[in-house]
Amino acid sequence: MLKDVTLRLFKTIFAESEFAAGPACGLAMQAYLKDCETDLRDVLAWARECKRRITVRLVKGAYWDYETIMAEQRHWPIPVFAHKPETDANFEKLSLLLLENDDVIDAAFGTHNVRSIAHVLAQAERLGVVRRNFEFQMLYGMADPIKAAVLKMDCRLREYCPVGELLPGMAYLVRRLLENTSNEGFLANKFAKSASRDDLLKNPSDVAADVRRLQSPSLHTPHSALDTRPFRNEAHTDFTLPREREKISAALKRLRQNLGKRHPLVINNKPVSTADWLPSLNPANQKEIIGHAAQASIAEADSALAAARTAQPKWARTPAAERAAILEKVAALMRRDKGDLCALEILEAGKNWPEADADVAEAIDFCDFYAAVMRDLGRPKRTQAVAGETNVQHWWPRGVGVIIAPWNFPLAILTGMATAAIVAGNAVIIKPSDQTPVIGARLVDLLIEAGLPPGVANLLTGPGGKVGAHLVGHPQIDFIAFTGSKEVGLRIWETAGHTAPGQANLKKVICEMGGKNCCIVDSDADMDEAVVGCIASAFGYQGQKCSALSRLIVLADNYDKFVERLIAAAGSLPVGPSEQPGNVIGPVIARDAQQRILDIIETGKKEAKLAWQGSVPNDPNACYVPPTIFTEVPSTSRLFSEEIFGPVLAVSKAKDFDQALSLANESEFALTGGCYSRSPVNIERVKAELICGNLYINRTITGAIVERQPFGGFKMSGAGTKAGGREYLENFLVPRVITENCLRRGFAPAEES
Ligand code: NAD
Repeated sequence: MLKDVTLRLFKTIFAESEFAAGPACGLAMQAYLKDCETDLRDVLAWARECKRRITVRLVKGAYWDYETIMAEQRHWPIPVFAHKPETDANFEKLSLLLLENDDVIDAAFGTHNVRSIAHVLAQAERLGVVRRNFEFQMLYGMADPIKAAVLKMDCRLREYCPVGELLPGMAYLVRRLLENTSNEGFLANKFAKSASRDDLLKNPSDVAADVRRLQSPSLHTPHSALDTRPFRNEAHTDFTLPREREKISAALKRLRQNLGKRHPLVINNKPVSTADWLPSLNPANQKEIIGHAAQASIAEADSALAAARTAQPKWARTPAAERAAILEKVAALMRRDKGDLCALEILEAGKNWPEADADVAEAIDFCDFYAAVMRDLGRPKRTQAVAGETNVQHWWPRGVGVIIAPWNFPLAILTGMATAAIVAGNAVIIKPSDQTPVIGARLVDLLIEAGLPPGVANLLTGPGGKVGAHLVGHPQIDFIAFTGSKEVGLRIWETAGHTAPGQANLKKVICEMGGKNCCIVDSDADMDEAVVGCIASAFGYQGQKCSALSRLIVLADNYDKFVERLIAAAGSLPVGPSEQPGNVIGPVIARDAQQRILDIIETGKKEAKLAWQGSVPNDPNACYVPPTIFTEVPSTSRLFSEEIFGPVLAVSKAKDFDQALSLANESEFALTGGCYSRSPVNIERVKAELICGNLYINRTITGAIVERQPFGGFKMSGAGTKAGGREYLENFLVPRVITENCLRRGFAPAEES
């Protein structure tokens, strides 16, 4: 991504007329990238067209592991060659290309590999390029005999060394050390392993062909833990690709032509209109109505419940594999409509492009993952093998439930809770948030399109405090899946605990609530990583994630330096409408949320030091809150203890790691937590002592991925369930065990013993 931007910047800047006669300009290119040849040809064409003589420093590339691992984690195509000899071969190919374009290029070859050097020299000789026209580059202190040999041949040689601060320099030197001792590096083979001259000088194209024949790709992709049907996460979209950006722009245009529609309730797969309709507004422009959502009354809530009760028994008897297949169809439909769903999230929820895309991807994951889990759970399991008796455990659905969702992951959370319940054989009433009802309506459309029978999923938009509360207390509701604030969650928990006369079941409450998440920055933390990770965790989606970082505890040794860098980084985040892809921070969800957060900031000024506040566009129609950082935040303050759910970060200082841990644990919540540290001892302590449901070390504390990081907290953050985890579906099921005596007159058939 950065590479494409860099190349574009390079070409744009140096095409300016002021650079026509110098100063000299140049860039480095990495031969391990599969698209390096395309990039190089493009740069060559540009140099010719703009009549610029440039230096190209050709290297092999030093971040192979990083490039490979990050692509694997994101399920993106791996951008680098899998095998070192392929890179060596590409280096030779590109060296030749550079020499052939000697008229516009000053070539520099960064390599310590004798074969690569020899190849350059031989090709230069063949092409008649004089040796003083190009240079070799080698690292200071390394491969001195090779340097001496190159100089002896009257070649130009540039020695280079890292310059700068010690700590980042150490990281660089460790990387070089790893690189130079790698089994595939030339220097290790030559000097440490005494490989034969013939082996060292072999044509890398031949070696690459041999390696490819003998080996599968070098990094093994771990498969899902599910044995039944391999599950694979939906890849996040790579918005560096123009075609992907065009899809969202086109979807936003399409959506704008269709705004303002009425979205009725859905009961028994049929639309039901109501007397009241609530407009859903764009947080970036309160004058823009995304759609009108039908407002259910108690009567409609009761008819949705009746529809669900009627449909549920038949749905419960539908084989698990058939139910799973419908979820997989929903996932496929979401994939088909990905751009449109993203556009809807951008306009209705104020998500920026990558956040919207991640939410849709997570919704797809929930469908596919819960389908895979249900296929497995659907097969009865033997509990213990004993002669003369079979004992199997299997699962039954709970019955009928209500799904009550928040607006902040408007598709993913709603989809996750609803599909888990549905695939388990339950029927549900889906109550989306008042802030994002159009996305809720879209989900129910997709469920129906995928073939869900009437009554299994019913859409009930309307006031949570009225219809939601009514259903929660209804004796015919068997379970409630809720995600939202602590206040509402506790009320639901309490109501569900009352058992009405004649009520068939004890109500199960799957309850996920808020957080006041903390990250510790240790005195030896990698500042570069910590600054970027903390900013993303605190301000991603304007801090409106339950997992968002809101308390940052920095060790005293690092405090001043870290806070200075944190503020500088925060100041670089563009704020504006989320539909413009350049904006990182958008509006908060609604006017009342905006006012509430601004009030908290005002109060916060009396409790702590306002260290930094960003600026926001002056637009009275938008719900912006300036991103804000408070420092010197005492643990007794509201800033430190209450969930703010906005772009506000509280920073506190700890004198040592003990104090940091104890401050971190001073919270009624236990959702996410994190720590940046290089100390193995402190990392172990955090693992053992930091109280939270999802702990992240040396990375962002947001962005859990289905199956990889099952998500959820405890204490006042929730009842300990893990969305996106293998056990999640069990919340929507009751276990049964069937024991059968299979003795037939003292004899047991072999298959039953
Ligand atoms: P909220 O509690 O205000 O609303 C959540 C849902 O509950 C909405 O659909 C609302 O209509 C409904 N509701 C409101 N009053 C009700 C009542 N009396 N009975 C039944 N339903 C009622 O929360 P929100 O503002 O939509 O979402 C933000 C909150 O959600 C934050 O606290 C955040 O931390 C939390 N959250 C938690 C998780 C998690 O996984 N733990 C994930 C996302 C969001």
